[in-house]
Amino acid sequence: MARAERRPPLAPELPCIDVHVHLHPERLARAIERWFAETRWVTAHPFEPEAVAATLQERGVSRFCFFSYAHRPGMARELNRWLAATAARLPQAVALGTLHAGDADLDALAREALEDLGLAGFKLHLSVQRFHVDDPRLFPVYERLEATGRRLMLHVGTMPYRDAYTGVAGFRRLMRRFPRLRVCVAHMGCFESDAFLALTERFEHLYVDTTMALAPDAAPYVGAEPAALADATLLRYQDRILFGSDFPLIPYDYDEERRWAWDRGLPPEVRRKIFHDNAARFLGLPPAGGG
Ligand SMILES: [Zn+2]
Repeated sequence: MARAERRPPLAPELPCIDVHVHLHPERLARAIERWFAETRWVTAHPFEPEAVAATLQERGVSRFCFFSYAHRPGMARELNRWLAATAARLPQAVALGTLHAGDADLDALAREALEDLGLAGFKLHLSVQRFHVDDPRLFPVYERLEATGRRLMLHVGTMPYRDAYTGVAGFRRLMRRFPRLRVCVAHMGCFESDAFLALTERFEHLYVDTTMALAPDAAPYVGAEPAALADATLLRYQDRILFGSDFPLIPYDYDEERRWAWDRGLPPEVRRKIFHDNAARFLGLPPAGGG
């Protein structure tokens, strides 16, 4: 039975920014779709960029941040050009680029992505890309991000993979070395949320996103424990939490990624921060929102 039949659609009274959306070039999208189809994870949402943007707009999302990833060296330049061209077609979209620690010309690649293509920063998925977040080969990239105030979105938490490339220890080393980095740790840093959240008290540009960490419907797919993230924790870190959805890779309706905030009865001003204001600050968008 479809969840949407059981639960009424949300009508969020807020402007909403989604910082965690996946768009991939056709061939890569098909490969990812096939991979998911072999698992019990059936996404049921179209991957095509215009369709994704239209769905988000229908759901009241005024802006969204999207990315792809280079799972091996040598792919990033072409992907970044595709990401920039796609963002240019979608007025509500903000694109983050990709790169691989094994790319031969990392510094030139980063410069091209940020300066020539105008990408808003980079997304790294340490589990899929299989390198460490504090790999010294990436240091020039981090220096460039710090100097330009661009962003870094990191899947560096252990949910759901638990491998040598994820975990708070490596991330802590990164932040000690580059304390001014403007970073979002995806998935609330699960399964080490408390440790990641505590770091936001030391680093002024550090955020986490809610993607698949707080939605009860997500829990069976990634092993999340939404209840472990207490309301008091969300209130305490209300200025550092960004809404993200993983759309269109989610095997349930979009609203399930944000219903938790209403089910938990978070005060409207806190929802406003999590679903809009914090992301506007992180992405450098106008604070008034709307659109
Ligand atoms: Zn994701």
